[in-house]
Amino acid sequence: MQSDYDAIVIGAGVGGSNVAAELAAAGWRCLVIEAGRYYSRLDSPRGELDGNAKLFWHGGLELNRSASIAMLRARVVGGGSIVNQALLDEFDSVALDDWRKRTGLQWLSETGMAPWYTRARGALHIQPVSEVHANRNAQLFRQGFEACGYGCATLQRGQSGCRHEEGNDCIECLYGCRLDSKQSTPLTSLQAALKSGAKLLTECEVETVSEEAGQVTVRARLANGQPQVFRAGQLVLAAGTLGSNALLMRSGWGARLPVLGQGYYCHPQFMYFARYREPVNAQRGPFQAYKSDEPTFRAQGFKLENVFSPPIGTALLLPGLGRDHQISMAAMRHYACIEVAVRDTHPGRISLAAGGRLCIDKELDKEDKRRATAGYQAVRNVFRATGAEAILPGRFGIGLHLMGGLRFARRPEEGCVAGDYRLFGSQRIHVADASLFPSAPGINPSLTIMALARRLGCQMAEAA
Ligand SMILES: Cc1cc2nc3c(=O)[nH]c(=O)nc-3n(C[C@H](O)[C@H](O)[C@H](O)COP(=O)(O)OP(=O)(O)OC[C@H]3O[C@@H](n4cnc5c(N)ncnc54)[C@H](O)[C@@H]3O)c2cc1C
Repeated sequence: MQSDYDAIVIGAGVGGSNVAAELAAAGWRCLVIEAGRYYSRLDSPRGELDGNAKLFWHGGLELNRSASIAMLRARVVGGGSIVNQALLDEFDSVALDDWRKRTGLQWLSETGMAPWYTRARGALHIQPVSEVHANRNAQLFRQGFEACGYGCATLQRGQSGCRHEEGNDCIECLYGCRLDSKQSTPLTSLQAALKSGAKLLTECEVETVSEEAGQVTVRARLANGQPQVFRAGQLVLAAGTLGSNALLMRSGWGARLPVLGQGYYCHPQFMYFARYREPVNAQRGPFQAYKSDEPTFRAQGFKLENVFSPPIGTALLLPGLGRDHQISMAAMRHYACIEVAVRDTHPGRISLAAGGRLCIDKELDKEDKRRATAGYQAVRNVFRATGAEAILPGRFGIGLHLMGGLRFARRPEEGCVAGDYRLFGSQRIHVADASLFPSAPGINPSLTIMALARRLGCQMAEAA
């Protein structure tokens, strides 16, 4: 099959949906291709096991080479916006100044980004998580922070009515949202793109992309194995950090982009559980209500979040085997959990092994370990100040914010993408996902991915 479009967007996740919304609104004939399935609120997976298997690449997680960090990335229409916690934060001057210094791009500043954050925010509802409904897990976090003198803030979340006042428990919302409250892209930017005429092809995995004779060619395969070929004037890669890097490597771009796959970051997160004498029941009420808002933590390169860890996740993370593990799991209702997220400084590398399998080399160096340890000290202080009986560290790190590999740069020796979002050496291939990030910001990335994608969409439409 061959079809012609003004633009093809690969990936219907956070970046892809936002760029498609702008292009379609400007009248472009736009095709969005997504490897994953579409789920509505009525048929989205209900449990953790089902959710891991259906909504993520490789059944739930991919490990780095040393199996010390598990990376999670979504494979579903909506991408990360379906499986994430929808916490939406703008970057501060610490993150943006670092990006500007690394790339020379003057618009990477709080003032330069402000209109794009406004545009991204304008497409969704953002609400603070109500303190009135904070559960015991969140209350312990807050009390511990107060006792230790640490700054703490309520979370800003993409949601439009979680009905906590009716006693709703939102612990399923990492697997979609049965209330259509979470502001995932199928309810927001992707829906807007489709209403403006964009086409969406689901369960179709793109295998290679190429650019020749004034157009781009996309070769893909449907879930039933049937090959597909599409052509367009412009291409936007938004397959997420691992997806976009792998796609370019499989398409032979490694020869043209000398640092392709380098500069990979993931905000390694470490979960800590604390057992209390009285039940905590972290599974009740809102998933999560608070985050650290502490300048000394920011300066030390970590942040803390009050999170809920669901049973399968907890079972994977808790130490011990056999009967010991069973005893630990039996106490689950008595656990509070806090996560340390490290603003990692030591870049990793994405590559392809023989046979095309994705390899992720990503470790913590001395500085990143120091940051993780400083975070753990703070967690210990918070748990101890609230009477925890025992603290159990999770067994491995988790990477939820996958970034880089196609970073913005001045020249091809330093990165893969120029300030106009085009691959170096390409006229027609643009990038609109987290792979653009030149370093780890230490802040939730989604709102910035949306803002960057909106900026690209407007820029492409204007140039045309
Ligand atoms: C459990 C979890 C919790 C998180 N919580 C938060 C949070 O609270 N706040 C926050 O800001 N961030 C959070 N994140 C991170 C955030 O979701 C991601 O950073 C964001 O989704 C990345 O956007 P993206 O556009 O780069 O890629 P994605 O949103 O991942 O979209 C990429 C899409 O491309 C598709 N794709 C990949 N390869 C191909 C191919 N070859 N062909 C066709 N399609 C392809 C994928 O299936 C996917 O749907 C969380 C992530 C996880 C996993």
